Amino acid sequence: MRRHARARRYVLRVSGGVIHLTIPTRGSSKAADRWLRTKTDYVEKRLAETPDPVPFRFGSVLPVLGQDRLVRPVERGRARMTLDALLIPEGSPEQVDRAVRRLVRAACLDAARRDLFIYWSALGVEPRDTRVRDMKTLWGRCAQDGATVLNTRLAFAPREVFSAVAAHEAAHRIVMDHGPEFQETVRRLMPDYDRHDRWLRENGHGLFAYGAT
Ligand SMILES: [Zn+2]
Repeated sequence: MRRHARARRYVLRVSGGVIHLTIPTRGSSKAADRWLRTKTDYVEKRLAETPDPVPFRFGSVLPVLGQDRLVRPVERGRARMTLDALLIPEGSPEQVDRAVRRLVRAACLDAARRDLFIYWSALGVEPRDTRVRDMKTLWGRCAQDGATVLNTRLAFAPREVFSAVAAHEAAHRIVMDHGPEFQETVRRLMPDYDRHDRWLRENGHGLFAYGAT
């Protein structure tokens, strides 16, 4: 519970299996408790939705770019991704975690470049700088100059969902807002865009379970 000087009302947020309750300075803990008890349905629903964390360690199965891959030790050679595994040299838990993160990020960047290249070509615009980054609140971003960033978390989404975000950001090269012209452009790139967009809205928070501790 956090008492917030500027809070005028009770605010309830559930994320990562933790309940955050903000109460006004003059609010009492007892009143907060009473108020919270009227919200149990909401809290229980959100807690049930929060998936268990899947750590980046040997034995974990990670859905990377739409394919389940087992994290397992490799005897010789560098860390690499195969069709069904992430092969990682033996090391401390931190080293394994870092190696998995690096592999996933590289695979994500590769997919982002491929998808964006296809959609940009379809729209007849010049290729621009492409990056991937861990972001808390955005799935993707297209700057004025066309440089595009996709959220690294998308690596754990179904492959078509990943492409849907790439199509969305590519469409912003033509139309910056989300009006009818944008909607028409993104559906031209991906006819079943709505289905994948809905998947992301309903399941997107679950992508943050991977690599969480
Ligand atoms: Zn947008």
